[in-house]
Amino acid sequence: MNHSLSGRHVAVVGAGIAGLTAAYRLKQAGVRVTVFDAAGVVGGRMGDRRTGDLVYNSGARLVYPFGQAFNRLVDDLAMHDALVPLHRLTAQCKSPQGEHTIELMPSPRSLATPGLGAGERVRLVAHAIAMLRAKKQVDPDWATSALAVDARLDDMTLAAYIRETLGPNVLTRMIEPVFRATRSFNPEDLSALFYVSTVPHMVGQSTVNTLKGGMGRVCHALAAQLDLRTGLPVRKIRRHADGVELALQNGELFRADYAVCAVEGSLAKAIVDEPTQAERRMLDAVRYNSLGVVHYGFAKPLPPMMQFAMRGLPGRIATYQQLPAAPANGRPLTQIYCQLTPEAASEAVQRGVEHELDVLIRDELRARIPGFDRHVVAVANQWIARKLPVFSPGYGARVNQFWRWQEQRADDYSEARAAPVVYCGDWLSQALLTGACASGERAARILVERMRAAVPRVAA
Ligand SMILES: Cc1cc2nc3c(=O)[nH]c(=O)nc-3n(C[C@H](O)[C@H](O)[C@H](O)COP(=O)(O)OP(=O)(O)OC[C@H]3O[C@@H](n4cnc5c(N)ncnc54)[C@H](O)[C@@H]3O)c2cc1C
Repeated sequence: MNHSLSGRHVAVVGAGIAGLTAAYRLKQAGVRVTVFDAAGVVGGRMGDRRTGDLVYNSGARLVYPFGQAFNRLVDDLAMHDALVPLHRLTAQCKSPQGEHTIELMPSPRSLATPGLGAGERVRLVAHAIAMLRAKKQVDPDWATSALAVDARLDDMTLAAYIRETLGPNVLTRMIEPVFRATRSFNPEDLSALFYVSTVPHMVGQSTVNTLKGGMGRVCHALAAQLDLRTGLPVRKIRRHADGVELALQNGELFRADYAVCAVEGSLAKAIVDEPTQAERRMLDAVRYNSLGVVHYGFAKPLPPMMQFAMRGLPGRIATYQQLPAAPANGRPLTQIYCQLTPEAASEAVQRGVEHELDVLIRDELRARIPGFDRHVVAVANQWIARKLPVFSPGYGARVNQFWRWQEQRADDYSEARAAPVVYCGDWLSQALLTGACASGERAARILVERMRAAVPRVAA
């Protein structure tokens, strides 16, 4: 323990994986930490939910083995046994011509995708080699690391990048269905940063992981080591001469030396009192997409199936999945997972049916499965208003600028008013668990440096 830091107290607002990682790393450095979360459970978008006999995730479903910060956490928590490998994940992609197989981790089999031009297949091979070469340059925990490969990637949409690098059929038959079905994004809404920072670490790999005992398990393991107050929203973080004061929803005022703001970026602006200009510039730029999923419990057994839909097909379902009952693994019912297309999610908002999404897709399911209504024994509508932060063109530059600002304040006390609050979350790193972890580690590091720099100042 570092005794110079043991007298310091940090309040962490938000117990998602970013906030929990920040809190855990600060505690490891010898700092006293108290964590607050508005929800009754920890984990945020990394957790497990249950509605009657239906079980599902609050967000993330897969752990990508390439995540450096997440792997460090698993190492420190000695939780390797919890990782369950899933090999060669594929989906069937419905297209106007029929169905084709999509490999979730790109492999030589991806070259067999029907409907590609000969030139596109050649470019795919060259691209795979280029991506493998870029592997050392990019860090999948940080979307902006892709700028080391090409400084234009932040300004280019993913759609333009794929069209230019690989061709239009690769975009519509391979990339777009995956981004719509797994990330709920259309490729014209994103920059190419996510793709180029992650794909080099996926080429030639065939395994991703899930967590035994549920996705929330790592968060619960972290929470068990922390001083935690759940079900208690923080309404305001105020800075004052000696640190911060949190106004809690129950009327209590909580004082600490520093705060880590680890809530979703679009919520941070309302919480932080009198944001500085640099904070406002960043927080104004944060946007999220939304996600609607309907989970059905089915009385009749169904074979496992994962199906994506190509854009432009009629229908509102982007991802259709059948999950056979597995009582030993905590899933008592056969379940059907239906994830809305990005367009259907917008429609749900326009029609105000976010909490009755079933009405949007039931006819589609009736047409797909004879006697559908007879076999449905449970329904859960899941609406995630803030699914993933949108790294739209230009966003990466802001993120980099903001981190520089956060880091420089460690030795620049002319910005003393801003100094006690540091931000983290996937919206400042990468829209993945491991990105959120990496941002939490970095926020903790900044605060530790700031505390060390402040010790002689205080003593003097
Ligand atoms: C449907 C979905 C699927 C995904 N799939 C994957 C995947 O397969 N693999 C992967 O790596 N990533 C995936 N992700 C992304 C991943 O889940 C997120 O990047 C990560 O969990 C974000 O963590 P975070 O700590 O930054 O934010 P969050 O988990 O959102 O944490 C923020 C926390 O702040 C709390 N909070 C908000 N307001 C307040 C307040 N006023 N006071 C106190 N607390 C507050 C919230 O309750 C929440 O717990 C997925 C996300 C979603 C939604």
